[in-house]
Amino acid sequence: MNTYSCFKDRTALITGGASGIGRAVSVKLLAAGANLVVWDVNSARLAELRALAPDRIETATVDVADSAAVRAAAGVAKARFGGFDYLLNNAGIIGRHMSVTRFDEAELDRVLAVNLKSVFIVSNAFIGAPTGRAGRAIVNLSSIAQRTGGMIGSIAYATTKGAVHSFTTALAKELAPHVRVNAMAPGIIDTEIQKDVFTDASQIAAMADVIPLKRLGTADEVADCALWLFSDAAAYITGISVDVSGGR
Ligand code: NAD
Repeated sequence: MNTYSCFKDRTALITGGASGIGRAVSVKLLAAGANLVVWDVNSARLAELRALAPDRIETATVDVADSAAVRAAAGVAKARFGGFDYLLNNAGIIGRHMSVTRFDEAELDRVLAVNLKSVFIVSNAFIGAPTGRAGRAIVNLSSIAQRTGGMIGSIAYATTKGAVHSFTTALAKELAPHVRVNAMAPGIIDTEIQKDVFTDASQIAAMADVIPLKRLGTADEVADCALWLFSDAAAYITGISVDVSGGR
């Protein structure tokens, strides 16, 4: 049996699926036969994704930190597909440069809300829409920043990713044995979020040099890890975080 045949006719909820890692996971799950519910703030990119298979993809322009918007979109998706089997809590931002001695309170609130509060809100929506099938699973996007502290200026981001790590451990206990909950901690992955951090090629080359595998990762490589964690091949794995970081 193919490892990913378990995804056929299942429904996956993916946040931040319009680009980068979320889009890569969406495309792979679609190819494996899943239905998709994808929420993002980027409407144009969502429309491009939906065009791949309108009969199997439900998209909505949703700010995942907005609980009323999440509840409304979850209701629409549940009416269409009956519930959710998988959840990728993936939407995230780095936010503007800040330090503890100098930060904009509104920006701090925004990073905490998008990267952390949303994970509570969306997980609640997922749990409240069961499908009645076994094998439900959640994968949360943490980051190696949860242990390295991240780049200078991204202290709020690193803090939220540490909290996502703890959230994963705690929720895995809360939802066992019915739902498995794991996290992925990517290193430096070549997606648009990095454009907020690296402005030129020399910075990227310097970064690649400190990674044991000597290159940035790709969104597809992180997506492969997500599919494995969702799949029945990982049926005895819950409450862990997998580094996808080239050894960093
Ligand atoms: P990305 O910028 O390509 O994708 C993030 C997506 O989230 C975008 O489509 C964006 O529109 C969406 N989004 C942002 N705010 C949102 C909101 N309020 N509501 C709904 N959608 C929202 O970046 P990516 O690299 O694919 O990042 C995905 C996740 O992986 C993030 O949580 C990020 O922190 C994490 N991560 C990325 C890296 C990396 O190096 N790329 C490393 C570690 C962790």
